Amino acid sequence: MSAPSNPFDIARETLRQLAVRRVSPTPDNYLTLYQEIAGGKPGSPPFPGKLLRSLNSDLPKSTPDQLRLARLLEEAVKAENWDDYKTHLLAFIAALTESQKLQWAELIGNLFKQWEARHSGLTAARKREALEHVLSGSGANPETLYNRLTSLLRSWGQGRETEPTVAAAEEPSLPDAAPAPAPAASDNLLPELRQLFAFTLETAIAAPLVESPQLTRDAQALANDIRSARSSGQLQNFLVRLKRFAFKLELLAEDQAELRTGLLGLLRLLVENITELTLDDRWLHGQIEVVRELIDKPLSQRAIDDAEQRLKEVLFKQGQLKAGLLDAQESIKQMLAGFVDHLADFTEATSDYHDKIEACAARISAADDITALENVLGEVMQETRTIQLNALHSRDELRATQRQVEEAQERIRQLESELEKTSDLVRYDQLSGVLNRRGLEEMFAKEAARAARHGTTLCVALLDIDNFKQLNDSLGHAAGDQALIHLARLCRDTLRPQDTVARYGGEEFVILLPETRLNEATAALIRLQRELTKEFFMHDNDKVLITFSAGVTEFTAADDQTSALKRADSAMYQAKQAGKNRVVGL
Ligand code: GH3
Ligand code: MG
Ligand code: MG
Repeated sequence: MSAPSNPFDIARETLRQLAVRRVSPTPDNYLTLYQEIAGGKPGSPPFPGKLLRSLNSDLPKSTPDQLRLARLLEEAVKAENWDDYKTHLLAFIAALTESQKLQWAELIGNLFKQWEARHSGLTAARKREALEHVLSGSGANPETLYNRLTSLLRSWGQGRETEPTVAAAEEPSLPDAAPAPAPAASDNLLPELRQLFAFTLETAIAAPLVESPQLTRDAQALANDIRSARSSGQLQNFLVRLKRFAFKLELLAEDQAELRTGLLGLLRLLVENITELTLDDRWLHGQIEVVRELIDKPLSQRAIDDAEQRLKEVLFKQGQLKAGLLDAQESIKQMLAGFVDHLADFTEATSDYHDKIEACAARISAADDITALENVLGEVMQETRTIQLNALHSRDELRATQRQVEEAQERIRQLESELEKTSDLVRYDQLSGVLNRRGLEEMFAKEAARAARHGTTLCVALLDIDNFKQLNDSLGHAAGDQALIHLARLCRDTLRPQDTVARYGGEEFVILLPETRLNEATAALIRLQRELTKEFFMHDNDKVLITFSAGVTEFTAADDQTSALKRADSAMYQAKQAGKNRVVGL
């Protein structure tokens, strides 16, 4: 009988042979016999096609090399050829390691060379700044870092200066790229380039110098010079003045940095003193702490805006509380003063009474007839009645004072609850510390305007905790509150400082992600979900897993806040419908 070829026949024959050969039907024996009947090498394991196909689909495919590798591996899997698969994978890894080693060594060598070389118009400070920018902007991605460093070094290399000659050591020399000027060089100094240079000086350089009129004038004069420069002599002269101008700019930058540090110091001092001044109110201290944290981070327009808003709120709330408390204090003081006065009168009256009673006692001892005794007793009764009336009066006054103190306390309580009610005038959610709905509205308007101004993308995400009611029901409302605080903190820690986090409703949060495309924003939310599975919410030493469903959308020119939030909400709803704990982009 010829060897069976289709899997069904092979399986049937395998079962038959197991019986014929009296081999026990274990999975291993079945597999060995199956391979023997199918014509494969006995003992070789089956090809893990399913696993490798799944691995292939997860491989990165963002560069041509990665794409080629993915294709080769796919072919090997299709042909069930393990040798090919292994060869392609090993070759790719070897090439990758080799090329990266070589390129990095070369790049670092080049970096040293360019760092020490002199470049026209590039100070050491500028170079450091550009390098730091590249380092901090490349995240943990070596490929991005490599590419950015390469283009930075290329741009530095293009501005490289020739070695200064002895005679011209103090003078700026012409960049390499500039052709040697001919005697009548009017045509050599490209008019377009001169115009471009002048334009740069007038707009990009002079415009931000509004606070330094002298430098603005210098930039304008330099622009006029380069516009009219025709000979190489004029150009040399221009370069000397340009260098001086650049030096002054550097000084100005240093001054401004110093000013910024000074202002920050002042702000810190103010914040610390407000903490001393504020009454013992936890809410105020919390807000002040947030301001302090904000100004300790690198300065940005967003951080300043945020700090300003929070300070305003603190001042507003403190103003309200202080006025109310001063009032209440004043009335308590007056009441106490009145009561002390009255107490003094009462004490005086009591000692008077004692004197009189003593005198009466003496007269009683000396009395020798009933009439005299009667008179004395009448007097004693009279005095006692007076003192009784006095005591009653004092008790009434004491009660009245007590009542007034209670009323004052009630006023303070009312004031505090009014402040609580006006908390929607305030921009921050008092439970979680992130922005509340009103704060979100303001921030949203700012971010939308910023995105329109810079032509950048802005994404909006709406997330809703899954099965939160159940969590409240099983662990209690206080635990629910703590879970909200935990999630808000994790959002702040995981997302970028420029992202806005706001509590939109009970267990719903809105996140604004400026300069972010839809796929990046979705990835950020997925990262947040992953963080929640690492940073558990702890309740009574138990780990509680919180999950959320989120909808993400991009804010477009046709949108307003409501339409964008509505889209994010319906994306979130889709995420819930699809089984929760997922992110949907729309
Ligand atoms: P789903 O997964 O569909 O979102 O279900 P859910 O239970 O999360 O949603 P549902 O809207 O049914 O319940 C939300 C719950 O959130 C109900 C409410 O009691 C609770 N909640 C709202 N605000 C707060 C809060 O400030 N603190 C606490 N502890 N619970 C809150
Ligand atoms: Mg909800
Ligand atoms: Mg929910």
